[in-house]
Amino acid sequence: MTGGIAILKLDDFGIVGRRATFMYMAVDLLTKLLGLKVCWGVMGERISMLKSDSRIIRMIKRFHRSGRHSFWNHGWTHSDCEFKCLGEESAIDHILKTQNVIAKIVGVAADTFGAPCNVYNEETKCALEKCGNIKYWFYGDGDFNGICFPFFRNLEGKYLKLESTLYHPDYERIRIVTQKVFVKGGGAVIQAHPAFWHLRDLFSFARCMIYLKIHGVKTKFPCELDKETVYTRFPKTIGECNE
Ligand SMILES: [Zn+2]
Repeated sequence: MTGGIAILKLDDFGIVGRRATFMYMAVDLLTKLLGLKVCWGVMGERISMLKSDSRIIRMIKRFHRSGRHSFWNHGWTHSDCEFKCLGEESAIDHILKTQNVIAKIVGVAADTFGAPCNVYNEETKCALEKCGNIKYWFYGDGDFNGICFPFFRNLEGKYLKLESTLYHPDYERIRIVTQKVFVKGGGAVIQAHPAFWHLRDLFSFARCMIYLKIHGVKTKFPCELDKETVYTRFPKTIGECNE
């Protein structure tokens, strides 16, 4: 089987400043040239503090109109791995506040959630199931009512990140995942943090994306995939691949 499926999960949209803004725009331009779709994780509280005519808000609207970008719920405060200790009621409150921020800007509710630091507790799952619009969960728990996208683990059960430390997109890891997963028709969520990049990280990301494109990998939004596709084509482990 050929034609792997990648979801570009770009975290921490909400960091502002010249460098972060430049990187958001660079990702837009690069993915436009390559015809790739992008999923941005919105930090609700930070975005809520921006004026409605600010550059970032206008950018979100423009990205949304292009049809190539989607926005998912990345929690409210993002502090201390936010959902680690939150009770169900507070978790619902944090999730819904960010849902409102996204809906107010782009006019539609987000359908996907991803916890800050990918850390959550049992209450998070209960909360998500009560936030009606959330149907997809990045690296979530398998018992969730909706669809969970798995985070790769190696055979020892250790998380296998697609970035090396300090948010550097790693060409070598993309190459390995492409060979072990994508060229066999499998799928994977690729996580990156453009807001924290330096130029060399942007170039590395560009190289990774060109590599995916050359290998016929298609980028999708979570809502374009059904449960069976995710559970049969997105592996949970990538055994031979070492961290
Ligand atoms: Zn984050």
